[in-house]
Amino acid sequence: MAQVTEDTTAGAVRPEVLGHWIAGRSVQATSGRSGPVYDPAVGRVTREVGFASVGDVDAAVRAARDAFPAWRAMSLSRRTEILFRMRNAVEAHREEIARVVSAEHGKVESDAFGEVSRGLENLEFACGIPNLVKGGFSEQVSTGVDVYQIRQPLGVVAGITPFNFPAMVPLWMLANAIACGNTFVLKPSEKDPSASLLLARLFQEAGLPDGVLNVVHGDRVAVDRILEHPDIAAVSFVGSTPIARYVYEHATANGKRCQALGGAKNHMVVLPDADIDMAADAAVSAGYGSAGERCMAIATLVAVGDVADPLVEAIRARLPKVNVGPGTDPDAQMGPLVTREHRDRVAGYLDSATRQGAAVVTDGREHELYRSDGFFLGVSLVDHVTTDMDCYRDEIFGPVLTVVRVATYADALRLVNDNPYGNGTAIFTRDGGAARQFQFDANIGMVGINVPIPVPVAYYSFGGWKASLFGDLHMYGPEGIQFYTRAKVVTSRWPDPGTSSVDLGFPRTR
Ligand code: NAD
Repeated sequence: MAQVTEDTTAGAVRPEVLGHWIAGRSVQATSGRSGPVYDPAVGRVTREVGFASVGDVDAAVRAARDAFPAWRAMSLSRRTEILFRMRNAVEAHREEIARVVSAEHGKVESDAFGEVSRGLENLEFACGIPNLVKGGFSEQVSTGVDVYQIRQPLGVVAGITPFNFPAMVPLWMLANAIACGNTFVLKPSEKDPSASLLLARLFQEAGLPDGVLNVVHGDRVAVDRILEHPDIAAVSFVGSTPIARYVYEHATANGKRCQALGGAKNHMVVLPDADIDMAADAAVSAGYGSAGERCMAIATLVAVGDVADPLVEAIRARLPKVNVGPGTDPDAQMGPLVTREHRDRVAGYLDSATRQGAAVVTDGREHELYRSDGFFLGVSLVDHVTTDMDCYRDEIFGPVLTVVRVATYADALRLVNDNPYGNGTAIFTRDGGAARQFQFDANIGMVGINVPIPVPVAYYSFGGWKASLFGDLHMYGPEGIQFYTRAKVVTSRWPDPGTSSVDLGFPRTR
């Protein structure tokens, strides 16, 4: 979380400073601290973002708390009407949102467009809220007594989101949270903060009452205040594993409900009977899409038996055709990384891989854009990787695909299951029995069968196992509704006064 140093060069124009969005209007940060927002394709600071003070977070929580009573009391029909309008607003502004995402994150606009579409799905799911919060009813559990369960919102809830999906991940959270009647405080990544501000403005125009959605920008100061604020009932987090663990531990220690999704190291197992071309296409798409900055990216190919040589060759042959360029280039398939610091860290794994005995088949540093001012790294392929190497052990989060060669399916499965992360995995095979066995065996939250990036549609829920998720409930979909509501059970009797009597015994059914 670098802090921008002010440019005092004579004539330098200080970039625009983005403010928070509190109670339906833009509010500047009061901390005096800010961070740079880059255009990663050219390596220039395009704006700054003001970081929240404790007081700024408190103001956002106050706005959310004030908006809660009216929002939760609004009928489901009226809330649904607003959700439909929010959905239509995102649909109508898809391109604008994608452009904003691309400009600060660096991903190509077509990929950003896909991100917006997957975010939109969550608003569409939330439009079904009257059906989703239906409770249960049991008539005559005892003579004249009925029992029913209702689901009610929690109050003010908060979301803390990563840089890599600046539109989609906020929508994963806020669509269901507000549909359930909660009010929301979002703390997006300080690296690409504009998408959430644009969404907040669009939602206001769509009729979302002020204060239902608030956005505060910042660093650990903002996050810590969210984790300890007594008026925040629940925290959803998506980001790296060390921060996910920290958020989960502190939020729950302060009595909050928490779901904290962490990092990943996703394996794609290729069995000897797989279609080589199809597996190679999938590996290239899932390894390098969004420059590998996806928590569901394929990081490691597990080549089983004699599939390794033809598979590595098929991937290698495809790499020169991957068009790397700025997000604004309609022909570019892969953009730059998010910051120079991150790009250099990713490139460092190519050195350590060589040092530790792997074979760098394609080195992304040879791409001409690597020497530009933008934060580019070309696609890289590293073969003969073993589990003790840094490039296998760490989440690289960049366009570096590593290949581990194993002899048998059992070896491949051991690799997948021994890995501390458990977000996603995929198997490529033509054998239905082998695929079914893998689905049964894999100790992983999301499994793809001939599908390299098995991100569930919005009416299922998203979440990994092991170090990829802290908490009990996955994000969005049915588990999202559960996370953002709590159950109340009502036992009711409308007695005939003539049958009333005193009974000090423990209530029992009759
Ligand atoms: P990050 O953990 O650095 O940041 C996530 C959020 O936490 C940001 O809002 C950031 O401001 C905040 N934060 C960062 N450092 C903090 C600190 N020390 N104390 C308190 N808050 C802090 O993650 P990132 O780099 O923005 O995103 C990439 C990571 O997110 C990768 O590890 C990726 O796998 C993971 N991710 C996971 C999923 C998933 O669904 N499991 C989805 C997307 C991204």
